Amino acid sequence: MTIQRIAVLGAGTMGHGIAHAAMVAGYDTSLFDASGEALIHAKAAIEAIVAKTVELGRIKDGEAHAITGRLRTFDHLAQAVAHADVVIEAVPEQMELKLRLLHDLEKHAPARAIIASNTSALSLTEMAAALAHPGRLAGMHFFNPVHKMKLVEIVRALDSAPETLQAIDEVARRMGKETVLVRESPGFVTSRINAMIGNEAFYMLQEGVASARDIDKALKLGLNHPMGPFELVDLVGLDTRLSVLEFLHRSLGEKFRPCPLLVQHVKAGRLGRKVGRGVYDD
Ligand code: NAD
Repeated sequence: MTIQRIAVLGAGTMGHGIAHAAMVAGYDTSLFDASGEALIHAKAAIEAIVAKTVELGRIKDGEAHAITGRLRTFDHLAQAVAHADVVIEAVPEQMELKLRLLHDLEKHAPARAIIASNTSALSLTEMAAALAHPGRLAGMHFFNPVHKMKLVEIVRALDSAPETLQAIDEVARRMGKETVLVRESPGFVTSRINAMIGNEAFYMLQEGVASARDIDKALKLGLNHPMGPFELVDLVGLDTRLSVLEFLHRSLGEKFRPCPLLVQHVKAGRLGRKVGRGVYDD
């Protein structure tokens, strides 16, 4: 199957980045959102990324024009997906919402269209089961910000067809990404490891092994991590990290029990940069 048209559902943090990657890869790209305002913001954000690429001398004006010309925005699902070869959903992380959208999508997208979900943690098998043909769905887990992050985790649900995984892999590579294939499992590879490291860092801080700054410094300079675990959790949000750990604790057991010091920080309202204080005050 030749893939020419991609529809992205949800124009938020991830959706606009995924749409940009699709446009740069040369796909005719439809971006759908229930909110007209989100579409306006997304279009502006995409144009800003393209303008920055021109400014850095990576592409010429003509190419930038061609890239932005590949985008069409829609506030009606039926029009957005009518001709799509691949649909990538990036609406908020709520199963009910995603299931409702998939149900509508099935009515309006071509029967041959491949469906990918950018979920961080929800069950792709449960999403696929809501479709008449579960084989057409798999996970396509991008990272934020999409235009800078190289990896896409391709997640195989129980019934994902080999052609589906192959098509998603092809799209990701054409977007300039590297891929890894993961069997559906809580936290995939990246979130599971990251949550474990971040939780362990809190246990070390709680035990007084070292200061937060020194733990961060040790991981950056000794282990070559681009950010320390506390810098990262301040960026991600301590409440978000806690909810990921609670989910992994429920699904994978004791080793993911959230560290009491992390729980205490969340109770104190130290949620990270978004509120001006987390592990660090600045
Ligand atoms: P977001 O809140 O920034 O954007 C979601 C967008 O979906 C919003 O623009 C909203 O208006 C729109 N929307 C809501 N309901 C809709 C509907 N019924 N139909 C169409 N559009 C609808 O969310 P996000 O951070 O981009 O996350 C999207 C998905 O990507 C989630 O599943 C999330 O878990 C996953 N994800 C997020 C990150 C991240 O760092 N933010 C990283 C990887 C994966």
